[in-house]
Amino acid sequence: MTDYKVTKLDAVPDVDHLPYWDVVIIGAGPAGLAASMTTAHRGLTTLVIEAKDQPGGQPHFLYPDKQIVDIPAFPDGITGEELSARTLRQADEALVQFRFAEELVTIEDTERVEEDPLKRVVTNRSSYLCRKVILACGLLHYPRRLPVLDRLDSPRVHYRIPRIDDYHGSRILVVGGGDSALDAALMILARGGQVELVVRGQTLAGRADALARVRAAGGIVYTSTEVMEAELTGEQIRVSLSNGKQLSIPHVIVQIGFVAGKETFQRLAIRLKDDGSVAIDPYYETSRSGIFAAGDVHGDIKLIPVAWAEGIQAALYAFREISSPHWLNEKRLHDQKTEMLREKLARVSATDNQTNNISRK
Ligand SMILES: Cc1cc2nc3c(=O)[nH]c(=O)nc-3n(C[C@H](O)[C@H](O)[C@H](O)COP(=O)(O)OP(=O)(O)OC[C@H]3O[C@@H](n4cnc5c(N)ncnc54)[C@H](O)[C@@H]3O)c2cc1C
Repeated sequence: MTDYKVTKLDAVPDVDHLPYWDVVIIGAGPAGLAASMTTAHRGLTTLVIEAKDQPGGQPHFLYPDKQIVDIPAFPDGITGEELSARTLRQADEALVQFRFAEELVTIEDTERVEEDPLKRVVTNRSSYLCRKVILACGLLHYPRRLPVLDRLDSPRVHYRIPRIDDYHGSRILVVGGGDSALDAALMILARGGQVELVVRGQTLAGRADALARVRAAGGIVYTSTEVMEAELTGEQIRVSLSNGKQLSIPHVIVQIGFVAGKETFQRLAIRLKDDGSVAIDPYYETSRSGIFAAGDVHGDIKLIPVAWAEGIQAALYAFREISSPHWLNEKRLHDQKTEMLREKLARVSATDNQTNNISRK
């Protein structure tokens, strides 16, 4: 099977004169980088468009200093920054091409057919013709904001985990009860800081072991508590909590989740799930043929290895559509078979129910 043969390309292709790309990938986070090296290794011309000026996605921008300990084969952990640098090196060696500081606006269908019907990926700076698109744009990086703190418009209110030097030894208020909030708390405590964690719910959504470690390291956790008021007083932020406590602290980290970039997805006219993420079929294809999606952009399980695995799978399905004229037919046949089986099972279970009802009478 040629599908799984990894080919190392020797020469840098003259990408400026390509009439169209085989694959355009949106987003250079874990899913996009893994997808890009998978298609490039198979000899497909691959372009990655990334809104930020550097690759890496969330590990690089949201938690560059955190030791990530749950990735297989890294028993001592690895920082988000190093992980991104290593993955980028691999993609570069596979001759993946990048456009940074460029943002997806929309994807148009065109009349032009070259091996495949071509699509036009329109960005805020240019446009690119291509055969397949993989959306790997993650959470689109819109952290959910807390209006009471946002109003202060202060650099002391952080919506990403600050770098180590930003908070060394400080007293910090962390708002949120998920894994990201607990991660932030643990990083501060590990560097001699003090943490007060404010959680709206009665219980925390984050990992129980992380909560236990926060408490063991001296972190104070207020559950069923909200930030009611906040004001800037010189170098400090004075915060009133719903449990009656008043705190004066130099920094607040807010980690209360992310807002999906619904507007971008709606512009693409692809089917979305109820939570606003992108719906896909079992082959990672969206409701628009030739547009695939992988990683946080659609997934319930938001983890780096899952984003890698999905990026690779989406890339392989895109590759199959390009390389095997029979694949699409096989795929449709498979879909039909599954549908027929589903109908059959539904008929059998309806008959069983009837028989049970009759024998009970
Ligand atoms: C604080 C925190 C800690 C975490 N810790 C861990 C951990 O310890 N272990 C673990 O496995 N996972 C962890 N995760 C989850 C993990 O980071 C994500 O699941 C993973 O980054 C998802 O990868 P992705 O490629 O799908 O999306 P992302 O990492 O979000 O990458 C998407 C990329 O697309 C770009 N983009 C967005 N919109 C556009 C556009 N319109 N045009 C062009 N580019 C665009 C973005 O700039 C970004 O670079 C953590 C997450 C957070 C928030």
